[in-house]
Amino acid sequence: MKKFADVMLPLPLANRYTYSLPDALSDKIAIGCRVIVPFGRKKFYTAIVVSVHYCPPQEYETKDIAELLDEHPVLLPMQYKFWEWIASYYLCTPGDVYKAALPSGMKLESETIVELNPEFVADTPLPEKEQRILDLLSEEPMQCITQLEKSSEIKNSLSTIKSLLDKEAIFIKEELKHNYKPKTETRVRLTEAYMDEEMLHKLFDELARVPKQLALLMKYIEMSGFFGKGLLKEVTKKELLIRSGASPAVFNGLTKKRVFEIYHQEIGRLAQGLSATDGLHPLNPAQQEACKAILDTFRQKNVCLLHGVTSSGKTEIYIHLIQQAIRAGKQVLYLLPEIALTTQITERLKRVFGDRLGIYHSKFPDAERVEIWQKQLKKEPYDLIIGVRSSIFLPFQNLGLVIVDEEHESTYKQQDPAPRYHARNAAIVLASMYGAKTLLGTATPSVESYYNALRGKYGLVELTERYQDIQLPEIQVVDIQELIRKKIMKTPFSPRLLAEIRKALEQREQVILFQNRRGFAPMIECKTCGWIPKCKNCDVSLTYHKGLNQLTCHYCGATYPVPHSCPACGGVELLNRGFGTEKIEDDILQLFPEAKVARMDLDTTRTRTAYERIIHDFQEGKTDILIGTQMVSKGLDFDHVSVVGILNADTMLNFPDFRSHERAFQLMAQVAGRAGRKNRRGLVILQTKSVDLPVIRQVVDNDYGHLYADQLQERRLFHYPPFHRLIYVYLKHRKEEVLNVAADTLAAQLRVGLGDRVLGPDKPPVARIQTLFIKKIVIKVEQSASMNKICDYLQAVQRHIMEDERFRSLMVYYDVDPQ
Ligand code: ADP
Ligand code: ZN
Ligand code: ZN
Repeated sequence: MKKFADVMLPLPLANRYTYSLPDALSDKIAIGCRVIVPFGRKKFYTAIVVSVHYCPPQEYETKDIAELLDEHPVLLPMQYKFWEWIASYYLCTPGDVYKAALPSGMKLESETIVELNPEFVADTPLPEKEQRILDLLSEEPMQCITQLEKSSEIKNSLSTIKSLLDKEAIFIKEELKHNYKPKTETRVRLTEAYMDEEMLHKLFDELARVPKQLALLMKYIEMSGFFGKGLLKEVTKKELLIRSGASPAVFNGLTKKRVFEIYHQEIGRLAQGLSATDGLHPLNPAQQEACKAILDTFRQKNVCLLHGVTSSGKTEIYIHLIQQAIRAGKQVLYLLPEIALTTQITERLKRVFGDRLGIYHSKFPDAERVEIWQKQLKKEPYDLIIGVRSSIFLPFQNLGLVIVDEEHESTYKQQDPAPRYHARNAAIVLASMYGAKTLLGTATPSVESYYNALRGKYGLVELTERYQDIQLPEIQVVDIQELIRKKIMKTPFSPRLLAEIRKALEQREQVILFQNRRGFAPMIECKTCGWIPKCKNCDVSLTYHKGLNQLTCHYCGATYPVPHSCPACGGVELLNRGFGTEKIEDDILQLFPEAKVARMDLDTTRTRTAYERIIHDFQEGKTDILIGTQMVSKGLDFDHVSVVGILNADTMLNFPDFRSHERAFQLMAQVAGRAGRKNRRGLVILQTKSVDLPVIRQVVDNDYGHLYADQLQERRLFHYPPFHRLIYVYLKHRKEEVLNVAADTLAAQLRVGLGDRVLGPDKPPVARIQTLFIKKIVIKVEQSASMNKICDYLQAVQRHIMEDERFRSLMVYYDVDPQ
């Protein structure tokens, strides 16, 4: 009997698609394996088999599966179940999830662009088809697969391409450029023989005759913290020589004696090649208690919230819990927001878990991500994966624990494209499917998580002491409204802040300045007529970037030359309105010409090395003042920052969103936490025009309790989460008139079934992006309602609308639990 397979395509299709199996494949195909299938006109895709059966579809004639790519499934049954849950909860298709989940190298399609690896040399002659493709690529090194198929006259080349990829003869073209030279650094460590206190003491005696070598060794021990309680620090050869004043000859003396050895570390590469050299740190009593409380909670509950002030040692607790889970034979997933996943944290974990740790990062080359995926399917997968939100899609064979660090971070929510999932919430569901536990950790919990914890849905463990009782910083509020009125604010910095920066520089301490806007000026304006340049594709004003000397749209990325005169009135005086990080940098350089300044924002961190280098240089004291957007607030541990300046709290507070005060509190608390870690109490200067807002007081007092109480009351009053669930329905169309009719029609039909749960349609703050007009309908659903029914209803109404001739090219999509 003829066999058929239903497959999932990497396309937003509502239904599965059925193909017939050619006899040769009939017995080989298994659920979860990838196949190559024709779809649409002359296009091929990599699809995943989701069922095998004997019933041909009634509606269409099936085509044959072209090829089978895998002997063993690359998608485990549990993953598929999880993907289906995501698709149904977040109102998208399994194809959307598939597209987001698999690294590009595993889902080749006709449109994929591949690139020649110029360094590839074949060991043995290549099959004829592969050679033909390579020849074509050596003429033009970057081509799309369709183009290659045309010129090579190979009808379906996907498996040939795959084979070339496996050989690393070609790469998938990455959106990010990877043509940077990795920067390496020579570092020093003790050889294994001397990694032992007793041996070292013997060595001290022996070296008494060679005082220069002894002095160098002592310096190394001081710098690495060998006898201390902290983690062993990485020591670079250069720093060691500078700080000890020793000559290279003295250094070589110690390497000859096999006391020191050197190794090369690529900076910016996340902890590759580090092996486990470190045991666990014993927890202090408060940490021990928290750790025990978490484990106790897990006996009754699946989720526990760890609310611990910055620097209380949450990460140390995670490390202990991870160790326990691994010892019990379980796998662990440790999620971090993209920007918090730095070398600092990965090196720390690598030193404990060595090669049992895999790192999954979106800025890694695709080939590395494919490797991790494949390894997770093998007999000996990584026990611990540390990764960004998309790592929830990886295969796990025996997941026991999920840690979601910085659980309050809004970047856990994927905005665009679908699936618009929330990685924290999805991780909780993933864990429950495996019978695993989830630990949410943060210094500033999201209102939703804290609410769940207080109501007993989650366990709650609080850690109120910082490790070694380092004090929280002192926060001083400066009223810039008042200073502007008195005409004292000539720069973005108040006199108080300038004085503190000066003092810090004199004492050779470091400063962080936080401004949550990049670019030079968020807006320019004609002094004469008030004209403001706007993006042609979007309904937003353009940001002026001085370094690039251009205007940029932060929504679609379009750039424009800076006009010399106003196109409206011809006036030549154009003013800068507001200030971004670039302007701050400019001003600081003028005010403190002797200071070494670095800027960290989206514009200066396009490559992963750039980002790591800025952090690294700051940590090493090569930079005095670090200016940045929220990137400077995350997961970084600096020792010499005495002053943090929050330049303008109002841009955060005035953002039109019901979460703006919660966000502002979280951001300011995190940024403030960077001040004064180990040595002494830090100082934060908080500049604002809204000194009387309760949230400012709450930041100053680090009073999460009152923040939560205030926010919760508002949320209850205005029907926001956690009391109501939100679903945003977005409609997009090229023509504004069509969009308006469609939005009104859709809203009216939704009201028939959902009544006054439906609000709008309204224009969102940015009502046109990339030439498409946008309207938004908000749906507020009470907790007791059935989400399933509501989602079914939404989709039924949408289908009905889409059948209307007038709305043919209308786009409709949903954002469930928007952030
Ligand atoms: P958090 O994650 O709560 O911000 P961390 O775990 O990063 O805190 O701890 C802050 C600092 O204190 C780190 O440098 C860490 O190495 C150190 N630390 C915390 N707990 C311990 C411990 N039990 N033993 C040694 N060092 C610790
Ligand atoms: Zn003008
Ligand atoms: Zn634009």
